[in-house]
Amino acid sequence: MTSIGIIGSGFGAIGTAVELTRAGHDDVRLWERSDDLGGVWRDNTYPGAGCDVPSPLYSYSFAVNTAWSRRYALQPEIHDYLARVADDFGIRPCIRFGHEVVSAHWQEADSQWEVGFASGATERVDILISAVGQLSEPRLPAIPGIEDFAGTSFHSARWDHDADLDGKRIAAVGIGASAIQYVPHLAERAEQLTLFQRSANYILPKPDGPLPRWYRAMTRLERGVWWFFGEQFSRGLDDHSRVGRVNRKVALEHLRRGVPDPELRRTLTPDYPIGCKRILFSNNFYRTVSRPDVDVVGDRITRITPTGVETADGTHHEVDAIVYGTGFDAQDFLSSIDVIGPGGRRLAEQWSEGAHAYLGMYVPGFPNLLVSYGPNTNLGGGSIIYMLEAQARHMRQVVDRLVAERHRTVEVRAEVEAEFDRSLQARLATSVWGNCDSWYRHPSGRITSNWPGATHPYARRTRQLEPEEFAWT
Ligand code: NAP
Repeated sequence: MTSIGIIGSGFGAIGTAVELTRAGHDDVRLWERSDDLGGVWRDNTYPGAGCDVPSPLYSYSFAVNTAWSRRYALQPEIHDYLARVADDFGIRPCIRFGHEVVSAHWQEADSQWEVGFASGATERVDILISAVGQLSEPRLPAIPGIEDFAGTSFHSARWDHDADLDGKRIAAVGIGASAIQYVPHLAERAEQLTLFQRSANYILPKPDGPLPRWYRAMTRLERGVWWFFGEQFSRGLDDHSRVGRVNRKVALEHLRRGVPDPELRRTLTPDYPIGCKRILFSNNFYRTVSRPDVDVVGDRITRITPTGVETADGTHHEVDAIVYGTGFDAQDFLSSIDVIGPGGRRLAEQWSEGAHAYLGMYVPGFPNLLVSYGPNTNLGGGSIIYMLEAQARHMRQVVDRLVAERHRTVEVRAEVEAEFDRSLQARLATSVWGNCDSWYRHPSGRITSNWPGATHPYARRTRQLEPEEFAWT
């Protein structure tokens, strides 16, 4: 029987496992470093954590959730949903908790991957699927003195729920999709909250609210509507279209209405094209920053001291606690795992100028390695679950064929991947991400995170396996 190992237990891993086991592939195991499943929806427990994609759209198509309690569900409900899917589809027993994968070495003689764990143990599988995601490794900023801070400090994805923040002076460093959700909660607890903002964000209002029981029958209808909106939204990021212009107008009007103080409004006005960084959604952020006990500092941070934060204008901001909402090592795809393919080829070296893979899933030179939520499959709008499902279906076809035709290995043809990457990068160069700085970009300049434009072309392209694009042995 063909053995399949999946690294992770988030949305990518669970969805892929369901797809494979339903197709009759019985030897599927998932390795999870933690003691619970859920990926980012397990790790991000900060106050207010939730999804800024409307919930009717945020579930698998094979397990549409019609029980969301509100239109933008919060983390505990999303985590529960994923756990329920794992239970309902029999995936939980396949998960090996407390298994942190640190290496994967190709074994030429047996055409297998030998997977190494932090414990020192190893296991072998015929097919290895990485589903570690793009946002699993929190990143603390490289600010001098960060180690010297004597108060409480933590990253948003490792929220310290025991920290005593009530009545304290709190610094929030980094204002992105996470911070915008917890900043209003911090403001409620702090004596004084200071937000250190490197770049301003475009923020759109959020049509949030409870979904009453009687309304839930409409979930599927809403799902279709939000999918359609998501497609238009994504298209707006791809080609500077009218959608982008409308979104910009709405965001600036939201700012104007939300922040009466012109100076604060100037600080909060982005100086780059809309969509370049992830567009945020919030109904209470502007209200929060307008409070008298909340400050927004636009000056660059030069140093963290034992008692506070120093900025380029020479001011020292004394604080008791620092919360870092500074994002993730999104460019280091799979870098926490030492992947060594045939001939000693290291994946990290192959990707040193930025990760690239055919359809985000298949890496030339690395047989029987499949990647879920790999390079260029992240989205600026719409639901990532749609992409993950499209990937799972394609990977399942690859595995089906490998098994049915008794091949030992499958690997994307190098020229197929190269041509795919060339046209993808050309397309991305004309997108809104082409000329600005964001976490979607590798230091080499390549945009390695995002898929350009709407998602249905990706689903169409991945619907049917084209066997001649791969080498089968
Ligand atoms: P993020 O969006 O990458 O935001 C990081 C913030 O930290 C930015 O404001 C960034 O400034 C700032 N920053 C980074 N390094 C800094 C430094 N050295 N000095 C000062 N500021 C620094 O991180 P995130 O908010 O955790 O979100 C990451 C991603 O997770 C999102 O883009 C999204 O894809 C996902 N997410 C999704 C949801 C959701 O609702 N679906 C919620 C949370 C997160 P610059 O902008 O100048 O780089």
